[in-house]
Amino acid sequence: MSGSASTEIVHIVGAGPGDPELLTIKAHRLITHWAQVVVYDRLIPKEIIELIPENVECIYAGKSCRQHVMTQDEINETLLEQARLGKKVLRLKGGDPFVFGRGGEEVEYLAKHGVESEVTGGISAASGISSLLGVPLTHRGMATSVRFITGHQQKGEAVELDWRGLADPQTTLVVYMGLSNIRNICNNLICAGLAEDTPAVAVENGTMESQIVCFTNLASLPEVIAERGLNPPTIVIIGKVVSLINDKYAN
Ligand code: SAH
Repeated sequence: MSGSASTEIVHIVGAGPGDPELLTIKAHRLITHWAQVVVYDRLIPKEIIELIPENVECIYAGKSCRQHVMTQDEINETLLEQARLGKKVLRLKGGDPFVFGRGGEEVEYLAKHGVESEVTGGISAASGISSLLGVPLTHRGMATSVRFITGHQQKGEAVELDWRGLADPQTTLVVYMGLSNIRNICNNLICAGLAEDTPAVAVENGTMESQIVCFTNLASLPEVIAERGLNPPTIVIIGKVVSLINDKYAN
């Protein structure tokens, strides 16, 4: 008997921000016709989980910023173990695996252990949600660049970002995982010179039926988020372009 089972390539796949219609055709094909085991995160909505055929094993990896059903190490080990069993492993992640998704760590871990992987991009929350709202992330005369930042730091440490660089009226800021530090983020941006009346929007469960949109400005954002009691997953977009938001979200 040879010692090691043959390993399949592991597919690390982005599922988009929530609306199942924002899955790529490739993600859909891998879910419905390729995978033998799917390791999925908390952000994957049930409509997408329901696409997984009955005979495919599903492993829930959890992962919200506070509650980890599995640690990242355990997820890495699970992917490796399943691949070494010779199974077709699909790692299904919210949005795009390479935007605050730790997809790079999974690729590195698998490579270190001799397992090949392939990453399939997904529509990241920033682009899926901004599009739906009618907010162009870049727009002639309003925003010449866009920056994706994380508002979440390790073990509750203060968010340390380049506030001066970020407080640029020509840049659109998209804050992932920013809910718990939103006051701190807004204060820092204002102190660094970004105008208090810069338009801002916070969106919970973007692109899903349960979507909540709060349109306001930079100075009022923390208060509005608290009043509306927003929960994760919530994304925040700050910048002049937010003024272009579709009327139906601008109340
Ligand atoms: N890889 C993902 C991001 C994972 S980090 C992507 O590319 O979209 C998780 C954060 O993404 C959440 O805290 C939230 O800020 C944002 N997010 C993801 N899906 C979201 C959704 N449907 N609505 C609002 N925010 C979302």
